[in-house]
Amino acid sequence: MKGAVLYRPRDIRFEERDAPRIVEPTDAILRLSATCICGSDLWPYRGISPVAEPTPMGHEYCGIVEEVGKAVKSIRPGQFVIGSFATSDNTCPHCRYGYQSSCVHREFMSGAQAPVLRVPHADGTLVATPELPPAEMIPSLLAVSDVLGTGWFAAVAADVQPGKTAVVVGDGAVGLLGVLAARQLGAQRVIAMSRHPARQQLAREFGATDIVTERGDAGVARIKELTKGVGADSVLECVGTQESMMQAIHATRPGGSVGYVGVPHGVEFHGEELFYTHVRLHGGPAPVRRFLPDLIDLVWKGKINPGKVFDLTLPLDQVAEGYRAMDERRAIKTLLRP
Ligand SMILES: [Zn+2]
Repeated sequence: MKGAVLYRPRDIRFEERDAPRIVEPTDAILRLSATCICGSDLWPYRGISPVAEPTPMGHEYCGIVEEVGKAVKSIRPGQFVIGSFATSDNTCPHCRYGYQSSCVHREFMSGAQAPVLRVPHADGTLVATPELPPAEMIPSLLAVSDVLGTGWFAAVAADVQPGKTAVVVGDGAVGLLGVLAARQLGAQRVIAMSRHPARQQLAREFGATDIVTERGDAGVARIKELTKGVGADSVLECVGTQESMMQAIHATRPGGSVGYVGVPHGVEFHGEELFYTHVRLHGGPAPVRRFLPDLIDLVWKGKINPGKVFDLTLPLDQVAEGYRAMDERRAIKTLLRP
């Protein structure tokens, strides 16, 4: 089997790897229908997160169950399933509290940019669709696996409420689907911060009511202007830099909430400054598993089409070009066909 392996910054290879097989009795083996490249894959690709050794890449996946271990009860061969980047037993106290990405059995997935994938804790991690999906639905089901689930958590963590105002910082795929999530959760006004015309267009398709092109303090000033000097009720931080985090906090009204899902890189908080903002912060690795059943249902019924976020589709053997296109911001998100 051939899959994507990152050797060092900007050196991604499509090379022979051992085909996954059942290791633990709770495992499942999937034949992937589609996989993709995550914005967070760009951190090691760009050398911002160190790459200690050649690393199989990919953690977003959906496909058909080929085989299950002896202890797997609810997942069966032949089902079409979706899982997230964090495995979970879905029974421990953190899982039952809705924080499956902090499961006591959590493993972070990797190696999904490949035709076949081993998924630990299959019963707790995977959710099956009602039947085999039509081909055109697969990009949207794949989006549920991480990018929509993460944007959705940003909106939930930012306490988006019907009739209220939400701001989305970040126009990557997660931010764009954060716009969709905020609208689905009933926000009346969704302000997307983007200076990229194609991404602004997609943000509008996903339900953005306003676009702000300014950044940093100028961006905050513009949000204040649009909210009569008050600030936003909810802000979704979908980048993970110092500038984006401060932009999010400063755009939030006193008593409002920031949901942050951009993996922080070098972000620091000043305690006293934070104290006087009166802003709630909640975030972390999204417990996508909590949302999978509802999000799959929304896609299945045709109520949302998050697969639009994939603006480049390549055969898996061209994975290196997929990374380049995202790195150079020529593509928002690359879908890979094994
Ligand atoms: Zn658990």
